[in-house]
Parts: sequence; structure tokens; C-alpha cells
Amino acid sequence: MKPTPRFLAVLLVGVFLPLAAGLPAGFGQVTPPEEYLGFKPGADFHLMSYEEAIGYFEELAGQTDRMIVRDMGETSMGRRMKYAVISSEENMAQLDRYKDINKRLSLVSGLGDREARRLAEQGRTIVWIDGGLHASECAPAQLLPQLAYDLVTDDDRRTRLIRENVIALIVFANPDGMTIISDWYMENVGTPYETSGPPWLYHKYAGHDNNRDSFMSNLIETQNMNRATSLEWYPEILYNQHQTAPFPARIWMPPDAEPTNPNVHPLLIRWRNLIGSAMGKAFEEAEQPGAISRTSFDSWYPGYCTQVVDSHNCVSILTETALYSYATPRFYPLSEFSQNHQDLVPGVFYPSPWRGGWWRIGDAVAYNSTACKSILEVAAKFRYEMLYDKYKMARDTIERFKKEPPYGFDRAVTDQRGGHIYCRRRLHPQRRDISRRLVYHSHQSASRIVCQERDGETGLS
Ligand SMILES: [Zn+2]
Repeated sequence: MKPTPRFLAVLLVGVFLPLAAGLPAGFGQVTPPEEYLGFKPGADFHLMSYEEAIGYFEELAGQTDRMIVRDMGETSMGRRMKYAVISSEENMAQLDRYKDINKRLSLVSGLGDREARRLAEQGRTIVWIDGGLHASECAPAQLLPQLAYDLVTDDDRRTRLIRENVIALIVFANPDGMTIISDWYMENVGTPYETSGPPWLYHKYAGHDNNRDSFMSNLIETQNMNRATSLEWYPEILYNQHQTAPFPARIWMPPDAEPTNPNVHPLLIRWRNLIGSAMGKAFEEAEQPGAISRTSFDSWYPGYCTQVVDSHNCVSILTETALYSYATPRFYPLSEFSQNHQDLVPGVFYPSPWRGGWWRIGDAVAYNSTACKSILEVAAKFRYEMLYDKYKMARDTIERFKKEPPYGFDRAVTDQRGGHIYCRRRLHPQRRDISRRLVYHSHQSASRIVCQERDGETGLS
């Protein structure tokens, strides 16, 4: 039978209308972000505040069993630091079980190889994705509501695979800063100050140095995130997104530049290379040119949030997407490229050079979306391997540093004033040659007191 145009129209409406209206099989109404916000995340001249983003998260979580919103603590300016947990309905019903599996694999203690393999079979890969740590680098945080919506509602093969195998944690890393920048920009759009910086810091105390606080946890946002990553969820992957791409590249991703940290397990570096390479492939598949690796950014400095979790055998991924200024578009002619980039010669780690043209926040959001989904896909496909290797890296590292220096580690202890004492403890009592200088930090008083170790005890001075 030859289908009539009317029959085809009914068929097409029947198939596509539910998806267009955000109604995948088995769902009631699910609100797309543009309907809640009044604009599509990544639209020119628009930035949502943290309150708008979290308001949308909470609305979305109320419409599905695939997502919940959790609270990891307060921010420096008194907001609640909330984040989304997304997975399949079946996984969401057993979150505590999956957290416990990850914790046991990560801490190793009392776990033999056979039991570790059994747990790796049963577990789910936990992936942390954050945006907005550096609040003026807007695109990653603006993406997160759209990413949450896509992960909850998309019904393609890849998204189903991700939901079945991965528990995604979607985190706004600097809630105060997100609103500070959004308020400033939206107030100045269309004025001569549209691309200017606000006259105050986008983190109350640390400004842009909030990332450099990760190893010492001075800021309560850092404490919240370190607690969530290293004491609660024990993710296999942490993805921390920024926007300082080496021009004219549109995004920088791993593999990193040299040097690397010799104290990190080599498997972790291989996983980072694998995830970065998969991301590069995803950019070519999505016809998003200008993705570059093996230049500019190394993983040597141990203080960033990425390198801090490396030390916990969590594979960290950094990307640096191109940014002009907030949500203002800009046109880049080829003549603005440096001489050595104007020939557009492809390279092994830059196979599709960017040719110039318009660059919008929507482009950066789209690149970050490709990156996030590629990471989640790798985490889904290599679920067992990632979980087992988390155990293997921890086990090997503990064994290694029984025989090699350094012989001590810094441990945070909460004191009676609510601050933290960073105690350098010896791993081996017979070793006396470790540093005896300790540093006391209190986020409440911002005081800094040098401590002295006395016969294994800690005292303030
Ligand atoms: Zn940054």
C-alpha cells in the first residue's frame, strides 16, 4: 500500500512529537531548559545565574526517577552547594550499594584480588563533571542544565548505555561566582562595559586562585568538593572544565604536555590519554574542528582539583575550551592567527585546525557537551576495567611507598575551633627524616599558624 500524505503526517507526529516535547517513553512532562529559563543554554548575550540553574535541576529531578539533587554544604557567601546525581532508575534505587563498592575498591583495605574483581563486576562507574570553578569561564556551567536534561531524556543507544553503567555527578563548582558573573554581565550587556570584568572577585576570598586551593582545602567550597570526591563518592573520573584554550585551538584536552607527576600510577596516565583520545575522536565525529592535545598544560603541579584526585587514583580530565568574553560572540579572521598557524597544517595532536570565523558561547557549550558525553561513554564501555584498575592503582601505590620515599602524608584533622590541622604523619615510625613544619589553616578566621611537631604530637605555635 502506498502511504497517503495524511497517513505519513499522522505517523510522523506520533513518532516525533513525544521527543520534541521532551516526552521519552515512560515519562510524563519533562521541562526542557529553554522552557524553564526562557532561553537555550548557550544563547548569545544570555547567562543564567546559579539560582536559575539549580531551580531547573530541582524541577527536572521532580519529573523523573533518573535524577536527584543533593546538597554538599554551604558556600562562602551562604548559598547551598547543590549537585545532581543521574543514572538509570535501577541504579538510582541502589546508590548506597554502588557508593560502598567504590569506597571498598578505592581504599583497598582488607580486599583481595578475587573480591576486587567480583566487586568491579557488580559496580557502576562514578563520574564527576563540574563546571564554573573559574566563574568567568562561563560555558561549562551554562551547559550543565542541558547536559542533565539530555542524560535524563535522550533515548539513543549511547545515552542508554551511559545510564545503565554510569552514575553521573553534575556539580556547580563555584555557585557564588556563577551568580556574581551572571548578574554583572546581564546588567552590562549592550553597554560599553559588556565585556569588562566585575570590580570584585568571583570567589569571595580566593578569586581565580580557588583551584589552587584544592590541596589545602582553605575554602569551604574546596572542603565540600574534596569531601564529596574523596570521602563519599570515590569517583573513577573527575572532569574539571575551563576556558583558556591555546589560540587558535578551540579546545585543549589530554594527553597532557610533559612533565608528568612521577608519584602517580602510570595506569592513571594511560587512562587519561585514552579518555582524551576518545574525546578527540568524538570532536571529529561531531565535525567540531580545532581540538588540540600534547601542548600547553601539564599535570605536574599537584595543587589543582584535578591533580589532588589523581593522588586518590581518580582519573582527572582537564579541558580548556576557547572563550572570547562571557556570552558575547566574536569573529576571528585568519589574519589574526600567528604566522605559524596561518598555514593550517594538520598535526598528529591537532588533526583538524580551526580555520577562523565566528566563535560564540553556544559553540563552547556544544564542544563541552561533546566532551562530557564522550567521557561518560568511555566510562560506560570500560566500566569493569575502570573499577578494577581503581583498586589495582591503590594497591600498587600503597605497596610502592612502603619501599620508596616520600614516607609521610598530610592529614586533615578538625580541631575544636572548626579549623583544620594539616598533620604530616609518618607512614613508618622508624623514619625520622620528614618535614617537621606543619601548617594550620582555619577557613573561619583565615588565620595561618605554623605548628611544630613534638615527639609525634602536634602542637600549635
Ligand atoms: Zn580556568
